[in-house]
Amino acid sequence: MISPPKYTLDKIRFATDQPTFEKAVELYENGKVTQFQEEISSYSAMVVGTKPYRVFVEARQFNLGHCDCYLGQNDTLCKHMVAVAIYAVQDGKPLASEDKHVISTPICSGRLGELSKEELAATKKAITAALQYIKPYDGPSRIWFAYQNSLSEGCNRLSAMVAGLPVSEQTAGLLVNMLLRLDKKLCTGGVDDSDGTVGGFIKETVQMLKEYEKLDPACAKAFQKLKGKETCFGWEEPLLG
Ligand SMILES: [Zn+2]
Repeated sequence: MISPPKYTLDKIRFATDQPTFEKAVELYENGKVTQFQEEISSYSAMVVGTKPYRVFVEARQFNLGHCDCYLGQNDTLCKHMVAVAIYAVQDGKPLASEDKHVISTPICSGRLGELSKEELAATKKAITAALQYIKPYDGPSRIWFAYQNSLSEGCNRLSAMVAGLPVSEQTAGLLVNMLLRLDKKLCTGGVDDSDGTVGGFIKETVQMLKEYEKLDPACAKAFQKLKGKETCFGWEEPLLG
């Protein structure tokens, strides 16, 4: 038994870019993380990639540590570090299949239905929690990348939540409200989306809502809330056309 890290698998999954996470999962599942050991507030292992790499990952933050591969030496989060972080949270146990992939764009479940009262309340909570990652930027430029990662993490968390939703006027209404909250953050909330992460997520969600409408025409009623709204880049137009 090791002392568990301060992060969870979801944290690693949503805060890592998709290719790096999926390559790390592959390393982990193929037993490439060897000699795993707990150190003082960190973990160490030998990860067998193209050659064996000595890897350290901190227990308080999965993206802090060291790896002697090319990326690691340049202070870039590499698949070896992520694989060791996964080992630490899983304690060497297998991953559930739904935890192996990052959903980085909102996709339609294609399943008609409504959420129960409890599910609806839980989903609203999850949206609010994910929206906290999409926060105003007020830091110096050296934390710019950390800030951009936070925006991506928020959008990844929202995408994973959206993918699990059934399609109905009810969930369409929920998503319209989510878009309006994101819009407010972009227009007046001080979010610096110059990489277009949040804007891209909004556009993709709008495309997905068009699919909702095809599956259940009643969804269009939920879009009426957008009538006459001034949004930051006119993203609502496809839903009202
Ligand atoms: Zn590495």
